[in-house]
Amino acid sequence: MRALQYVEIGSPPRVVDVETPEPGPGEIRLKVTAAGVCHSDEFIMSLPEDQYIYGLPLTLGHEGAGTVDALGEGVTSVEGGESVAVYGPWGCGRCHACARGMENYCPYAADLGIAPPGLGAPGAIAEYMIVDDARHLVPLGDLDPVRNVSLTDAGLTPYHAIRSSMPKLVAGSTAVVIGTGGLGHVAIQMLRALTGAHVIALDVNDEKLSLAKDVGAHETVLSNAEAPDAIRRLTGGLGATAVFDFVGAPPTVAIAAASVATDGDVQIVGIGGGTATVGFGATPFDATFQAPYWGARYELIEVFEMARRDQVHVEIETYSLDEAPRAYERLHAGQVRGRAVILPNG
Ligand code: NAD
Ligand code: ZN
Repeated sequence: MRALQYVEIGSPPRVVDVETPEPGPGEIRLKVTAAGVCHSDEFIMSLPEDQYIYGLPLTLGHEGAGTVDALGEGVTSVEGGESVAVYGPWGCGRCHACARGMENYCPYAADLGIAPPGLGAPGAIAEYMIVDDARHLVPLGDLDPVRNVSLTDAGLTPYHAIRSSMPKLVAGSTAVVIGTGGLGHVAIQMLRALTGAHVIALDVNDEKLSLAKDVGAHETVLSNAEAPDAIRRLTGGLGATAVFDFVGAPPTVAIAAASVATDGDVQIVGIGGGTATVGFGATPFDATFQAPYWGARYELIEVFEMARRDQVHVEIETYSLDEAPRAYERLHAGQVRGRAVILPNG
C-alpha cells in the first residue's frame, strides 16, 4: 500500500510503498477514507534529532476515519464495512484515567509503548491503518467521514478545553480565541453553540480573521502587542473570562496572560513553546492557567453529536495521497483555510 511517511529528520514527508499491515489479535484494519493534517505534525517534523521521539519512518496522520476492512482474532464488537472515526490518544485501557474515558491522560501508555497513530504508531495518511482496539473506534453512521474526520482532533481538543471552562462562560462572559486555524475555527463554533460568551477571535492573518467571522466570532482583532488593550476595551475593562490560545507561542501566551480577567481561565492549547509566569501580583486574582492535551473518549462522542445537530462543522480542503506533501507545504505557509484532509483511497 502507499503511505505518507516522515523518513528523515528535517526532510519533507514522502509518499512511499510499504507492506499492507495485517491486524494482530484484538486489532482492526481500516481502509482509510480520510485523514486530517494537523499543525502538530509540522511541529514534530521541526524537532531536532535529539528531541524527536516518534520513530522513523513514521506514517503521519493522527486524525483518521475509514471503513472496517479486516478483523484480528477475537474482535467481535465491530462489523466489516462499518464507517468509523479513530479516537487517537490511546491509553492502556485499565487504569483510573482510562476507566474514566480519559485515555489522553493515561499515565502508563508511554511506558507500555502505546503511542497514538501518526505520533508513534503508524498513522492514518495511508491506504490502510491498524487500530489497536475496538474501543478506539467511534461509529460515524450517516456523518460524512471526509467533512468530519478532523473532529477527532481539531474538534475534540478545543471541546475538551472549552468544556472545562464552561461553568465560567455564562451570559455576559467573554471568550478569546487566539489562532483561528484548524482548531480555532472549530472552537469558535463550539463556544457559540455551548456558551453565552461573546467571542473575540485573534489571528495574524486577515483571511483567517474573515474565516473567524464566517464561523461566528462576534469580534476580530489582529494578534499583536496592542491586542490586550483592544480586548480590555471590548470588555469594559474587565478582560476575558477565558482565553483559548491555539498558538501557544511566547507572544500569544503573553497576550493571553495580559487579557484574562480576575477569576478567568487561560487554556494554552498550542504547542509553540510559550510559557506564563503565574503568581500573586503577576496575574489577576484567581486566574487559572491550564495546558490541556487532546480529549476524552466520551467527549469525542459528544463532539460527533454536535456535528449531527449541525452545531459544528469543519471547513476543509481535500487532497489525494500524491498531493499530501503539498498540503503540508500550504499548512506551513499559513494558507490552509480550516483543515487540509487527505483522501488516501481517492
Ligand atoms: P493551524 O496552522 O491550522 O492554525 C494556527 C493558526 O494560528 C493560523 O490561523 C495562524 O495564522 C495563527 N497564528 C500564527 N501565529 C499567530 C499569532 N502570533 N497570533 C495569532 N494567531 C497566530 O494549526 P492547528 O492545527 O489548528 O493547531 C494549532 C496549535 O495547536 C498547534 O500548535 C498544534 O500543534 C496545537 N495542537 C495542540 C493539541 C493539544 O492537545 N494540546 C492538539 C492539536 C493541536
Ligand atoms: Zn493534532
